[in-house]
Amino acid sequence: MAVTIDQGLCSGCGICVDLCPEIFGWGADNKAIVIKQEREDSNIEEVADQCPTEAIEV
Ligand code: SF4
Repeated sequence: MAVTIDQGLCSGCGICVDLCPEIFGWGADNKAIVIKQEREDSNIEEVADQCPTEAIEV
């Protein structure tokens, strides 16, 4: 299963990029994007839980 970010929900707060910069980065218009689908050794689910708008689907 892929990690996705709902661009309509992302507020651009930057929490996911701060917590896990190897997976999340910045796309156009200051919304976060998934830059790498690499699930091992990363805390994607914890980061998804931290997202204030629940934009990250794991
Ligand atoms: S934590 Fe959520 S709202 Fe904040 S930048 Fe990441 S996806 Fe967007």
